[in-house]
Amino acid sequence: MAHQEVLMQPRKKIALVAHDHKKDDLLAWAKYNLVVLRQHKLYASGTTGWLLETELGLQIDKLMSGPLGGDQQIGAKIAEGEIDTLIFFWDPLQAQPHDPDVKALLRLATVWNIPVATNRTTADFLISSPLMHTSYARQLTDYEEYKQRLSHLYGTDTAK
Ligand code: PGA
Repeated sequence: MAHQEVLMQPRKKIALVAHDHKKDDLLAWAKYNLVVLRQHKLYASGTTGWLLETELGLQIDKLMSGPLGGDQQIGAKIAEGEIDTLIFFWDPLQAQPHDPDVKALLRLATVWNIPVATNRTTADFLISSPLMHTSYARQLTDYEEYKQRLSHLYGTDTAK
């Protein structure tokens, strides 16, 4: 399948999400990386964002709380190119009421080929990468053929 490229700017658009038992972990990680995080545009699910703002004074574009739609909002922003990096400390030991949303978020991050960290070590590797401060051409699968097929089946305006 053909590819196209999206240019990620030096100032990344990072979404931060942590499940309840992982919030302390994320806060500790964010505190350690405060200087770097301040250089980027930050988004977060509701409660995570509120904690990062009140505890660390970070400026966060807060979405809804995860279980109320925040994960889906972040997924939509990834699809629209408004978010290009995901730090998502999900809890592997607790069932989540919004498990389908969690899966959908991780799936969209893969579809749109953005860097994702789901634990602290990966987040450390990600945040310390030189690519966090330079432009980066992110490769995307070109879905044009797929959209053309839909257009033929259902009419020209169906597939955006
Ligand atoms: P929260 O959502 O930041 O509002 O707690 C996190 C989540 O469970 O997705």
